[in-house]
Order: sequence, then structure tokens, then C-alpha cells
Amino acid sequence: MTTLFDTMTGSVTQLINPGQETFSLYVCGPTVQDRPHLGHGRIVATYDLLRRHLQHKGLHVNLVMNVTDIDDKIITRAAEESTSAEEIASRYEAIWWETMDQLGVDRPDATPHATEWVQAMIVKIAMMIDAKAAYVVEDGVYLRIASVPHYGLLTKQDFDHLQPGNRVEINQSKESPLDFALWKRVEAHEVGFASPWGYGRPGWHTECVTMSIELLGTTFDLHGGGMDLIFPHHENELAQAQVLGAPFARHWAHVGFVEMNGEKMSKSIGNTLDLTEAVRGFGGRAVRLAYLRAYYRSPLEMSEATLNDALASLNRIDNFLERGPFGQVEADTLATFVDALDNDLDTPTAFSLLFDQVREGNTRYDQRQSGPAADTAATVYAMLDWLGLAPTTEDLFIPPEISEAVEARQQAKQRRDYAQADALRAVIEAAGFAIFDTKDGTELRKDRRLATDESLDATSSLDS
Ligand SMILES: [Zn+2]
Repeated sequence: MTTLFDTMTGSVTQLINPGQETFSLYVCGPTVQDRPHLGHGRIVATYDLLRRHLQHKGLHVNLVMNVTDIDDKIITRAAEESTSAEEIASRYEAIWWETMDQLGVDRPDATPHATEWVQAMIVKIAMMIDAKAAYVVEDGVYLRIASVPHYGLLTKQDFDHLQPGNRVEINQSKESPLDFALWKRVEAHEVGFASPWGYGRPGWHTECVTMSIELLGTTFDLHGGGMDLIFPHHENELAQAQVLGAPFARHWAHVGFVEMNGEKMSKSIGNTLDLTEAVRGFGGRAVRLAYLRAYYRSPLEMSEATLNDALASLNRIDNFLERGPFGQVEADTLATFVDALDNDLDTPTAFSLLFDQVREGNTRYDQRQSGPAADTAATVYAMLDWLGLAPTTEDLFIPPEISEAVEARQQAKQRRDYAQADALRAVIEAAGFAIFDTKDGTELRKDRRLATDESLDATSSLDS
């Protein structure tokens, strides 16, 4: 049984119905105004893990992730750089997907862009006005919260006693402080679209409710995002769905914050670490491992130390996999690992099982039990594959010229030509390999410390 914490019920619930074959998932995507930060990467990596987990279990997953390519922040940035909003949006969207590729994230099945769905949003807004749940005023169209049957289901707040100005802006044209804009009128020279209520732009909450319903239907399995989206974004999507008569998401899931020095990471407090830089400096697999080994709902501290530690853990795994060929996957061990992920994506337990196997496998190699060690290696590889962390051939591959240099160095040592042996060691190390002389012979390992100029840039920005 696959379970997940549902923000709506406030408890861990069964995610998949018996006999269910498909799983529809909508995750709020990026506003493409800047490079992604570490908080974004955590959300995307978590849903990528959930998607892979369900796929491994045989479900067909349909993942929709929207791209907000029109927004005040994009327009502001375009003005600052004397360029168009389209240029800003396409530049940062390209960086977003390249970075997510490096993080080992599979592309979504659909990535609807807000600018391509404005007509569908206009249709939904008209339906809400017809239902007397939205009203037109001078500066746009607003949803009337008083007409929403159950407002506050996700947030679990008593909004009747909410003070105006506390978390909601005061706007004289609104009937109530909680009412929110479905359509905002803008001046003719600004970026906008024609509508029955004047030239303007749709609200962000309307974007997501429209694209999720249009692409996944009036009801779908899971709506996800970061915890900062619960209010107002998801509460307001749900409010519109109620007014539109859509049952909407069966379950809601939210990923915890990434913190630095105990503070939540967000653009507004300026302690963001650029995900693109982190991936460049530590490698996408190390960053992914740093995200996934923590329970997804807990706050996650990210620092140079946590990323270095993740890289060291990854090296430990890869060094083990390099010790020999793969045998047969140990089915019972893999099943225990899968059970942990089925239990509300309990990745801390899953990773602890994985590292137990690495330890066990190393012991088997040390005791010259190459058959059992090969089976452990196959099992570890299967776990990594399940997590989207499997090494590529490139990650593990030792080029023939390096193997030959190791062999030549051994021979040089045997004939006591230490100058030649040292010269060959230098060649091997320059190619990015570390060499260890043990009582059992010479061991060669890929040196995965990425001590490049680029990684030094990334680490220095971690300190600031
Ligand atoms: Zn959204």
C-alpha cells in the first residue's frame, strides 16, 4: 500500500486505489524570472522521486507542471534589462530545464505555459461571474470568497476572524479583504491580453486551476507544490474549483522548506543559493542525494557542509560499485527498501537500508566473497535506479589508458623504478583518479571531488 501525507486530511493516507492503473499529478512549476534556487530543486526532485516510485510500481503517471511565463516579476526584470518579457521568460526557462536535467529529473508529460492558456482562463472567469461568485470592478475581476462553500479547507484557518492587512493586502475596490483577483486590468502599453473586462492579465491562482482542470480533468489524483503555496495559492485554486463545481485534487502534498542557518530560503529574504551553481560545483547526483535522503516534509538545512557530505556519501556508493561486476538483485532486500518509500516516502529509512548494503557489500569483497558481493552491488544499483541516482557508465567507467598506466606503475614498482612509478601516478591523478596501495594490491577510484574553478565559485557563494 502506497501512502502519503495529505495536507487536506492532515494525515498519512492511501494514495492509490485498488486496481488503479494511472496517476494524474499537477505540480506548480516555475515563474521563469531568474535561475532556480535550492528550494525549487527540492520540490522538483521530490515529485520526480514520487513519479519514479509509482512508475516502478507499474502505474502510468501523467505529470503536468505549469510554466508561469507572464508575471509582474518577469515584466520588471525585462524593463531593468531593456528587453522583452518573452526574452526573459525563455532565457530562464531554458536554464530551469537544463538544471533539472542535471538533477536527474525527468521532464514532465506536459508543461503548459500561462500565455498559451489565457483564452481558457477567460472562459473560467466568465463562468465564475455567471455563477455570481465573481464580480467586476474598475481594476479587474475578483472572486467573492463569501460565495465559496468551504473556504480555508487546506489552510485550516478560521477566516471569519482574519484581520484585514494581516497576510492579505487592503484594496479599496474589493468587497472583502480575502477576495482575490482573477483578472487584473493593465495600461494599454503594458504586457496584456484582451478580455470582456478590459485589457489585462490573469491572476496566478486562475492560471493553475485552469491548466490543471483542462489537462487532467475536473478531478485528478494529486496536487503538489512547496509548503509556501498552501496559502494563498492552493487555497485560492481550491476556492475557484468549488465555484466551478470541480471536485478537483483527491490529495494535496507539500514539500518542506530549504533553510540556510535555520531560515527558510526564499527570494524575499535573500539567502538563496543558486541551484544551477550548486549542481555545477557538486554534481547533480550529489545535490539530488542531499535532497532525497531527508524526509520530504521536514525543513532541510543546505550548506556547503551538507553538500560536501552528500558528495562523500555518493563517492562511498560509487567506489563500492566499482569494486566488481553486478550479480543478482536480492529481492527481499529491495522489497524492504520499496516498503519504506511506500510509507509516506520515508527516504531516511530507504537510504539507511542502502548504506547498510554498501557496508555489507564492502565487507563481502574484503572477505573475498565475490559472488555475494556482486549480488549486493546489483541490489544497491537497483535501489539507486529507483531513486533516480544510478551512476551512468561515464560515472563508473575507467578508461583503458588509465588501467594500462596502473599496470605499468605496478611493474615499475616491482623493478624498483620509483621515478617511473611516481611519474605514472601523476598521470593517473591528473586524469581524475585516486590511487591507493593496499596490502591486497593497488586500488583505483574516481576522484569525484570537483575541484574546478566553477565549483569554487559555487562554494564561495554558499558562505555569503
Ligand atoms: Zn500553481
